Amino acid sequence: MTDAQSRLEHLASLLRKNEHRLTPQRMAVLRLLALSVDHPSASQLYDQIHAQFPTTSRATVYKTLNLLKELGEVLELGFADDDKRYDGNKPYPHPHLICVRCRKIMDPAVSIAADMLQQVAQQSGYQILGHRLDFYGVCPECQEGG
Ligand SMILES: [Zn+2]
Ligand SMILES: [Zn+2]
Repeated sequence: MTDAQSRLEHLASLLRKNEHRLTPQRMAVLRLLALSVDHPSASQLYDQIHAQFPTTSRATVYKTLNLLKELGEVLELGFADDDKRYDGNKPYPHPHLICVRCRKIMDPAVSIAADMLQQVAQQSGYQILGHRLDFYGVCPECQEGG
C-alpha cells in the first residue's frame, strides 16, 4: 500500500467510525487530499471533483473539510491575500515552501522546526501549542519558465 492509499484508508475509516456517510463525492474529497502534495484550496478541490462528479456541490467540499478539521485530520493554512489551503497528509504544524509565482505550496524535506521549538520553549517558558513557518520563493519550474 502506498502512503496515499493508507492515508485515504485512515481518513475513510475515521469518518465511518464517526458515523458519517461516505458518499462517492466525499470519498473523492478524501482521495484528492490524500494524493495532493501541493496543498490545494477548497476551490481547486471542488473544480477537480466536480469534473468527476458533476452533481458535487461546493457545500460538500466545505463540509468535508470542516469535518476533517474538527477531527484534527487536515491542516488549514490561511493567507491574508489568498484562499485557504489544505494539507490532508500532515495535519500538524510543519514548515511550508510557497512559490510566489504559481502559488504552489510544498513541504520541504527538512525538520528544522523541532530544535527551534525546544529552544523557544526553553527560553520563553511558554508551553508551545503550535507554530507557523512559511518560506517564500520561486519554485524550480517557475525559474525555468523565466
Ligand atoms: Zn512556481
Ligand atoms: Zn504541508
